[in-house]
Amino acid sequence: MNATISEPIAPILSSPCELLIVGAGPAGLAAALAAAPSGARITLLDDNPAPGGQIWRAGPAVRLPPQALRLREALARCANVRVLCGTRVVGLVGERELLLEDPERGWVQRYDKLILCTGARELLLPFPGWTLPGVTGAGALQALIKSGLPVAGERIVIAGSGPLLLAVAATARKCGAQVIRVAEQASLSSLAAFTAQLARWPGKAIQALTLVEKSYRTSSNVVSAQGNGRVESVRLQQGAKVIDIACDRIACGFGLIPNTQLGQLLGCLLASASGGAQGLAFDAFQATSVPDVYAAGECTGFGGSERALTQGRIAGHAAVGNIAAAQRCWPERARWEAFANQLHRRFALAESLKQIPRPDTLICRCEDVPHNILTQCSGWIDAKLHSRCGMGACQGRVCGAAAQFLYGWEAPVPRSPLSPARIATLASPLNSD
Ligand SMILES: Cc1cc2nc3c(=O)[nH]c(=O)nc-3n(C[C@H](O)[C@H](O)[C@H](O)COP(=O)(O)OP(=O)(O)OC[C@H]3O[C@@H](n4cnc5c(N)ncnc54)[C@H](O)[C@@H]3O)c2cc1C
Repeated sequence: MNATISEPIAPILSSPCELLIVGAGPAGLAAALAAAPSGARITLLDDNPAPGGQIWRAGPAVRLPPQALRLREALARCANVRVLCGTRVVGLVGERELLLEDPERGWVQRYDKLILCTGARELLLPFPGWTLPGVTGAGALQALIKSGLPVAGERIVIAGSGPLLLAVAATARKCGAQVIRVAEQASLSSLAAFTAQLARWPGKAIQALTLVEKSYRTSSNVVSAQGNGRVESVRLQQGAKVIDIACDRIACGFGLIPNTQLGQLLGCLLASASGGAQGLAFDAFQATSVPDVYAAGECTGFGGSERALTQGRIAGHAAVGNIAAAQRCWPERARWEAFANQLHRRFALAESLKQIPRPDTLICRCEDVPHNILTQCSGWIDAKLHSRCGMGACQGRVCGAAAQFLYGWEAPVPRSPLSPARIATLASPLNSD
């Protein structure tokens, strides 16, 4: 049955829950499993078709690792955890009420306690040619491949910064692509310092060894993409040299930025955990600055799935009052915060990347706003008023982060609705009691 504006919302969907968890990546899964033994009525929701988040994204080209399967199976055994996939939070309605939407209907979800596990997204830095078909984010290409995009035989260049580049290269190679270059902007000395520290996290050292790429180059970044209607080659700055490489795809991502929008809408303060981009601020129990709202995983700062799992566990235990169990996870969290700290330090973005856009390079691709218009603006509000920058479909999620890096502007303050939503969904608060 499809809900319309006048139809009552199915009670099973709108029934209040004691604990609502937004995001079913590693952090959300761990939070739900930690909280479940309390017997509380828990709802775990995610906008993807299956739980797993970014790292364990399901799809036709994916064989999930045993850890992901174990977590999913454990979740299926928890009778008090309701899992809603393909469901996203569109905005706020009132005190402890969120507006949700799935492919068929919208409804108001009430909760007593909330754990935000909304993850992170890629930082995309615009360069000449970045809007050509065939150019994507690095993680975006990985998601497309996992969802079935055929890349066998294609020549792919992966560029940007951070360990995700190597994970993407491995996924592409496994599906038959030729990864002809992985261009990392960090220097060899930074990378050597990072690698030297890896013995502190043996699992990570082993993972790094399995991902080693012979096409990997440091002090290397994308300058431009060329092509007639589709990408045909990439120009790279490689140390002092500039080189051109023929390719079929470019996948480019400059690290991750926490998805803080929902937390900000709720009034949660931001902080820079482990020295990275600002995420949702949290205390020892993963509580945010807003009472009964917790945050875990990459919405608090980028640091990998192990950090997300540990933070999720602490938030889940704390939200149902199991303080001792939460405290037992503190040493583990400290270990992964130290790893995150290394990541941020060793893969810090070079100032020289700010010189990549040309005057006519589009920064806001939704509203076609070029770099030379934005360099004349004093900040985000000025840019919105004079150029419509950030007012398109992505609502500044892509260009806002780029502008923050390029011009040092404060990120745009999110507003409801967080994403495009159906009129019937936006009207559903009027229909709830
Ligand atoms: C594109 C991408 C690819 C990545 N690939 C890898 C990889 O291959 N290997 C690796 O080690 N690390 C990878 N990472 C890093 C990885 O995200 C983390 O290590 C780990 O998955 C973080 O777990 P998390 O639970 O904090 O967040 P995530 O795994 O990101 O999970 C957050 C979930 O919340 C959902 N969500 C967010 N907002 C809403 C909303 N409003 N309504 C409903 N649902 C919402 C998201 O769709 C997502 O499923 C990737 C990151 C990105 C951005």
